Amino acid sequence: MPWPGTFSKKVNKYPAMDLSKLGEFGLISRFQSRLKFRSSQVIQGIGDDCAVLSLNNGNYQVLTTDALVENVHFNLKTHTPEQLGWKTLAVNISDIAAMGGQPKFAVISIGIPKSFSVEFLDRFYKGLNQASQKYKVALVGGDTVASPKHLFINLALLGETIKKKVFTRSGARPGDKIFVTGTLGDSALGLRILETPGKKWKGPEALGKKLTQRHLKPEPRVAEAAWLAKSKYKVTSMVDISDGLTQDLGHILKASRAGAELWESAIPISKALAKYSLINGLPALDWALGGGEDYELLFTLRSRGVTNLDTESITKVDQPVTQIGVITARKGVRLISKTGRSTVLRRPMGFNHFKGKA
Ligand code: ADP
Ligand code: MG
Repeated sequence: MPWPGTFSKKVNKYPAMDLSKLGEFGLISRFQSRLKFRSSQVIQGIGDDCAVLSLNNGNYQVLTTDALVENVHFNLKTHTPEQLGWKTLAVNISDIAAMGGQPKFAVISIGIPKSFSVEFLDRFYKGLNQASQKYKVALVGGDTVASPKHLFINLALLGETIKKKVFTRSGARPGDKIFVTGTLGDSALGLRILETPGKKWKGPEALGKKLTQRHLKPEPRVAEAAWLAKSKYKVTSMVDISDGLTQDLGHILKASRAGAELWESAIPISKALAKYSLINGLPALDWALGGGEDYELLFTLRSRGVTNLDTESITKVDQPVTQIGVITARKGVRLISKTGRSTVLRRPMGFNHFKGKA
């Protein structure tokens, strides 16, 4: 099969089987049996009116929720049920990481069209379970309902941060250094590749797979956030990059009432993105600045005593962090090109649900 034509064009690959035979309660116990991660802080999990949790009093709790709607946030042509399950938990975990927290307990609500099969849901819970085991999140409850047409999923996640080490958006000050974990733009190009199976993408298949994988199986930066929370560094603000660097940096700048200077030459671009952009005639920088769903962390540090963070991060968490610019008192975002030319990035690029692509 020619790359990247690895996905079936048929939307409902999982025809009705025996959802109605199993019924709501049969389904719930089936889900329960698939969830393997256990936490001693869960006094009562799935099976009662509420979950009962024992929290650590010395910490702060952070709480987040994200909804995923079929054909808005995901597409069953491109995602396997396992990938969808993984992603449902991963995107919420990324929000907890962005506050400097450890994810802990989740509840999930799913609206399932009658046309979906038990096999689909089994595989969805398999992916959910994989992420739950990897990131040590206990899934302690949920709600299961029928949906007329499309699948929708909502997950709420509770996490914990060390007291006074909550990384909000509002603490960046002029002079602070701006950093990002990992590389940017891969997920967006990966999505483009997935959405255009007819197009003959040029480039090494292995690198193309890396890009699509970054879209299909995001890896939230929990370890990186924990390293920073425990470090001597003063993290002054943090967000996760879900809507694109320019847009998410905009959130920090608005909350912190500041501006920024970004250095084009420093924006971390993976080998896969660089190569695919070059061969297929796409501007790699635009994907890195505007592409969403990388789930990297964007953060600012008070600059004093910050040197060699890039090498330290490799040793501590095996992940690059790169300084990509500085916070300025002057509002707006200026991009300094490789030749030293400064351009104002006027519009945030990235995704906005009610506006579509900016
Ligand atoms: P209630 O009548 O209180 O709404 P339910 O019958 O909906 O309770 O759910 C029974 C138990 O199963 C509860 O503990 C609930 O949290 C859990 N649960 C329901 N749906 C799911 C799901 N999709 N995944 C995990 N747990 C679920
Ligand atoms: Mg219910």
